[in-house]
Amino acid sequence: MAREVKKILVSACLLGDNCKYDGTNNLHQELADWLADKEVIKVCPEVLGGLATPRIPCEIKDNKVINKNGEDKTYFFTKGALETLKIAQQEQVHFAILKSNSPSCGSEMIYDGSFAHRLIPGEGITAHMLKINGIKVYTEDDLEEIKKIY
Ligand code: SF4
Repeated sequence: MAREVKKILVSACLLGDNCKYDGTNNLHQELADWLADKEVIKVCPEVLGGLATPRIPCEIKDNKVINKNGEDKTYFFTKGALETLKIAQQEQVHFAILKSNSPSCGSEMIYDGSFAHRLIPGEGITAHMLKINGIKVYTEDDLEEIKKIY
């Protein structure tokens, strides 16, 4: 019997795409190497939501996504989350590996909205959207755990 192909949704910046707010990436070489022979669906929710790169950094405060200039960007983050969910469902991904601490992709901790580099427990908009739709979200820090369940 043919082995089932497990598709994995991955934050594009973790694989070296320069889609981070400052125009750089969050390449995680060990993760990229492990994923090299796997079926990966690469997404950047913020780009999918219509935001440009580079862009002004955002944090979540009082359930809204606010950039460092005080502008409300919740619409774009929500659009990106919905687009990402659509892709994840169309592709029937088995799980997601999303960048930690991001206001889109963070699944355990996020910055507290003060732009003072303070992390608090919480979820980014996309990670939350995937979770409430039954898609398990890991971070790049969970690689050893992911290897065991894959
Ligand atoms: Fe990376 Fe996600 Fe931010 Fe895009 S939205 S740059 S994939 S952390």
